Amino acid sequence: MQRWIIHVDMDAFYAAVEQRDNPELRGCPVIIGGTGTRGVVSTASYEARKFGVRSAMSSVEARRRCPQGIFLPPNHKKYSKVSQEILNIFTDFSPMVEPLSLDEAFLDVTGMEGLFANPVDIAVRIKERIKTELDLTASAGVAPNKFLAKLASDMKKPDGLMVIHPEQVDHVLADIPVTRLWGVGQSTAQTLDKLGLKTIGQVAKADPEKLAKHCGQLGYIIHQLANGQDDRPVITDWQPKSIGKENTFAEDIHDREELKAQLWTLVEKVGWRLRRQGLSGRTITVKVRFGSFRTITRSRTLAVAANLDETIYRIAEETLANVALNEGVRLLGVTVSGFVTSGGQMSLFDQGDEKNQAVAKAVDNLKERFGEGAVTRGGALIARQR
Ligand SMILES: [Mg+2]
Repeated sequence: MQRWIIHVDMDAFYAAVEQRDNPELRGCPVIIGGTGTRGVVSTASYEARKFGVRSAMSSVEARRRCPQGIFLPPNHKKYSKVSQEILNIFTDFSPMVEPLSLDEAFLDVTGMEGLFANPVDIAVRIKERIKTELDLTASAGVAPNKFLAKLASDMKKPDGLMVIHPEQVDHVLADIPVTRLWGVGQSTAQTLDKLGLKTIGQVAKADPEKLAKHCGQLGYIIHQLANGQDDRPVITDWQPKSIGKENTFAEDIHDREELKAQLWTLVEKVGWRLRRQGLSGRTITVKVRFGSFRTITRSRTLAVAANLDETIYRIAEETLANVALNEGVRLLGVTVSGFVTSGGQMSLFDQGDEKNQAVAKAVDNLKERFGEGAVTRGGALIARQR
């Protein structure tokens, strides 16, 4: 089966988050980091890049190049939170997600045809959701492996989408400088330069034995990369801290029964995501935003971790029952957190009754094959009929 990897890289992430949250910064050269005299730049907005400011540049140099720059200290807590939100979007598309840092990740989307039209369609949808839900832009690269996907995501920044099909690999790589090969730093680049190799295309055609003679084991690796070969798997030892879904309604909901039907729809989505990733959580949080924008969250922590729809719904519904509906509800959300991962200790997990487990398994299988929207159960149907 043809492998397909997507690399998603947020555009000027820290700076973009600050510009999003502080409208007065939009269109301005924003530089995150480098606030002290001895600091370095973490991220420069695209406006600041026009002045030649780059990541890892000293703050002194950044100030010299861009005296009108707005320097801000990084707010790592905030960026981590946004990063989690981005990862939650990724996991809606594939359970195989490998974050590289707060602002980039690989997704293995091989064989997802049952759920999505094709890998490019997945990349388009991811970009759209990041834009509409988080008001940020990302660039994506779609390719048969990690090396090519990461290269591709960088080719059309910002807000880019680049696809490298297997048959285009030689053509696309031909003129790219050798420094873009993984593992090739300045000194290896100089070694290659002495051999007359400046581009990836030239390395691809070079004798691998000769490369190994001058570059050691790396010689074989870069010869493979230069030929577009990279078998490294997407490693998913990452785990989300919470899985949740929320929905803003077209019209405020006043009727409790309708709200319960909406709750069921959300719970089905959360439950499916939990089970796909083999997760169970002990804390169930319900979020309600009223028409006035007043927002409340109510949590309950269980003795036993849950991942079956029925269990999550029962707790969430009890929690919601204690919330007075004096005004209409604009937004409803449900989140499961406090994940328990002690493999083997089955008693810690939500086993529900056997029937619920069997139903969950059957429905999950159908969702895998026909797409999430194709399958829904009782509670959600009530909501649709209204
Ligand atoms: Mg980035």
